[in-house]
Amino acid sequence: MRFFDRALVNGRSIRVRSTERSDGDFSVGHVGPELDARRRAVVDRPWVWLSQEHGTSCVDVDDVGLDGARGAAADASVTTRTDLALSIQTADCIPLALWSDDGVIAAVHAGWRGLEAGVIEVAIRSMQAQTSAPLSAFIGPSIGPECYEFGVTDLDRLEATFGPGIRATTNDGHLALDVRAGVRSELLRLDVATEVDDDACTACAGNFFSHRERADTARQATVIWIEEA
Ligand SMILES: [Zn+2]
Repeated sequence: MRFFDRALVNGRSIRVRSTERSDGDFSVGHVGPELDARRRAVVDRPWVWLSQEHGTSCVDVDDVGLDGARGAAADASVTTRTDLALSIQTADCIPLALWSDDGVIAAVHAGWRGLEAGVIEVAIRSMQAQTSAPLSAFIGPSIGPECYEFGVTDLDRLEATFGPGIRATTNDGHLALDVRAGVRSELLRLDVATEVDDDACTACAGNFFSHRERADTARQATVIWIEEA
């Protein structure tokens, strides 16, 4: 499991955890006691999880409540609540945890489709509706460009929006997408400071589930919550 803690300005702090293969399967297809136990081993508080669909919907847990947010069809969640954790499941896509210095947090599922559709901006605007404090980001493990062969048509279009940094080459010389570079470009444009940019590759590092490399149906979880002082 990958750990990240950061103190906030008001005596509270945020915690981010990103699981690995050895932490078990956090996919939400079979919600039940085994998944609950795996979640409790990461953090023992209610989890908000989403039915992710590579779109741009963002759930504000403060508005819809825990029951309304859990399992919602969305790819981002936002809250100021300190009694729960926000989670995202991934197996190659980028898990993004965001926070403001004064305690607004978000979890975002950003594959290339969501990135292009604008899910990161939607989540950030939702946070900025509740705070004007500076925002920071944790970019979790995802598929690296060396393993992410990509078609030229989609790549050309993405490059036009996110810049030449997204154009890469696989280990065996094929055209590739650097989706992390696209996320970094988007965060920079939206004035969000990237504090962690984890370059572990879910396809080739060996300790992650990968949809693309191994057709794994299991998922990693990335979780963010606010800890009271
Ligand atoms: Zn790789």
